Amino acid sequence: MGFGWNFDNSYARLSDTLYASVGLHPVSDPKIVIFNEMLAKELGLSSDELQSEEGVQILAGNKAPEGSFPMAQAYAGHQFGYFTMLGDGRALLYGEQMTPENERFDIQLKGAGRTPFSRGGDGRAALGPMLREYIISEAMHGLGIPTTRSLAVVSTGEKIIRETDLPGAILTRVASSHIRVGTFQYVANWGSFEDLQSLASYTIIRHYTDIPNSDNQYLYLLQEVIKKQAELIAKWQLVGFIHGVMNTDNMAISGESIDFGPCAFMDTYHPETVFSSIDTKGRYAYGNQPKMGLWNLARFAESLVPLLDDDEDKAIEIAQGQISQYMGQFEKYWLDGMRAKLGLFDQEDQDKELADELLDLMEKNQADYTNTFSALTIGQHEKSPLQGKDGFEEWLQKWELRRSRQTQSIEESTELMKNSNPSVIPRNHRVEEALDAAVNGDLSVLERLLAALADPYDYSSEYEEYCIVPETQKRPYRTFCGT
Ligand code: AMP
Ligand code: MG
Repeated sequence: MGFGWNFDNSYARLSDTLYASVGLHPVSDPKIVIFNEMLAKELGLSSDELQSEEGVQILAGNKAPEGSFPMAQAYAGHQFGYFTMLGDGRALLYGEQMTPENERFDIQLKGAGRTPFSRGGDGRAALGPMLREYIISEAMHGLGIPTTRSLAVVSTGEKIIRETDLPGAILTRVASSHIRVGTFQYVANWGSFEDLQSLASYTIIRHYTDIPNSDNQYLYLLQEVIKKQAELIAKWQLVGFIHGVMNTDNMAISGESIDFGPCAFMDTYHPETVFSSIDTKGRYAYGNQPKMGLWNLARFAESLVPLLDDDEDKAIEIAQGQISQYMGQFEKYWLDGMRAKLGLFDQEDQDKELADELLDLMEKNQADYTNTFSALTIGQHEKSPLQGKDGFEEWLQKWELRRSRQTQSIEESTELMKNSNPSVIPRNHRVEEALDAAVNGDLSVLERLLAALADPYDYSSEYEEYCIVPETQKRPYRTFCGT
């Protein structure tokens, strides 16, 4: 059957201010470290071919696949609040694979060498961080959260120089597109009005086809992007995911989670939780994520201003009107999700208070976020991290009473909870353990972790070991960007 490549490179048909076509930078000894057969199948690609000698050359950026158009995309971004020109400094987009279902996905190599946007960087990536992105993106997918995916990681056989020498690797990332808030910022700052219009129209065709064909379709675009982000960030909050670098270049217009650098899942509940070593001021702390989403969307809205109305003041007013909808939308998505986590089908005014009281108890008692919800789900309160803590009995009574006021049975409520509260998340010590083993050549730990993460709502005992919180955390957990 061949590889199954079926590229249609629509981005390459846009203005060439949006990208630079790039050459390949072959690596010496590429080998597959991990390969995602299920995803290959969804993409209409042959796993056998891709894991053959020729396939590995493609996944390593040594040989371009048939029909591809290797490019680096241009974008800008606010990094920790400061605006800069960026672009794919170490990523190479092969093109857009059309799947058997006629869906369009970017196939991108991360760590494929220098591009015109590399600035001082070497264009390369290390094995640990690429495997980390593989684990976390596949975990997000398992959790049902919109995300870019990972098709493969290959080791390059070359060392890359960081603080120490590290083994080099390339990740094949699959995304519904790589258009970012930063792509719009780039065009708004350095492109023409026509460039901006064409990027916005292209984005609508690619991601927001339901938008009515009206005079004001860019207003709808803004509205829909805001809604998608409110929904996405609510999902992050509900599972305790901390992205770590919510810069505007790391926010995808599609509403997928993207760029898994120093991200990690919160264990002990605390809104101020930060894992990233570079986020010294806690800008992207767990509890700040919703408002940082708003901040980024305001930058997106600013970029769209020229398209919203000929009269700039009026356009700004329109943009502000849309942005002001975000927090309410976020809170609604969050509360709906929280109700599901508590097994509630209907709505009562006191529900937010009930949820907040539980979170307060968790914060006061340094309770594990995921395990608190899973103990409620299986109804084994003696296993709850809050067991015996002041106020928990009273809270449980309130909650039971609230549950009994709805028409659905306890069994139905439990089922809803099982589908809303993961029992398995990629716990930090498990991720580190899998990465350490993999970098030392043992992939079995990583493979078992990935199997558990593929089905995180499965309350069977097979993967119980992944629910255990380590007795004492040796020191505060830190993650690194790994660039
Ligand atoms: P990230 O932190 O991965 O979101 O990257 C931020 C920006 O830095 C993007 O423009 C990347 O392409 C660029 N970048 C990161 N690492 C490298 C590298 N090793 N070489 C060149 N550019 C890089
Ligand atoms: Mg990035």
